[in-house]
Amino acid sequence: MDNCIFCGIVSGAIPSKKAYEDDTILAFYDLNPQAPVHVLVVPKQHIACADEINESNSGVAAHIFEKIPEIAKSLGLTNGYRIVTNCGDDACQTVKHLHFHLLGGTKMAGEMA
Ligand code: 5GP
Ligand code: ZN
Repeated sequence: MDNCIFCGIVSGAIPSKKAYEDDTILAFYDLNPQAPVHVLVVPKQHIACADEINESNSGVAAHIFEKIPEIAKSLGLTNGYRIVTNCGDDACQTVKHLHFHLLGGTKMAGEMA
């Protein structure tokens, strides 16, 4: 989708440091990490946020969750990790392309919001 930063990263038009890639998903390091390890896992197809997951595209969301353990292991996250997805304005979603923050490498705060 035009004017979508993460579609630009998927296409290679915008550079990123990749952590994992296959035919349908990409994981890359967040530009402004909020934990020692902070990677974003995205579908290559444009889906705006979790609110747009439906019967026809949920397979890629399932695939992301199938791959997260492998990605986390490859990043050395052996003592746990946090997965966060922001959807919409109240959640302060800034990039309107579905993404899962994979955070770890430290003991994180217990509060979620
Ligand atoms: P959100 O607030 O939408 O859940 O998270 C968007 C994330 O994308 C932020 O953590 C932000 O640092 C990251 N981000 C925004 N633009 C870029 C970029 O061009 N490259 C990378 N690697 N991360 C980005
Ligand atoms: Zn996009």
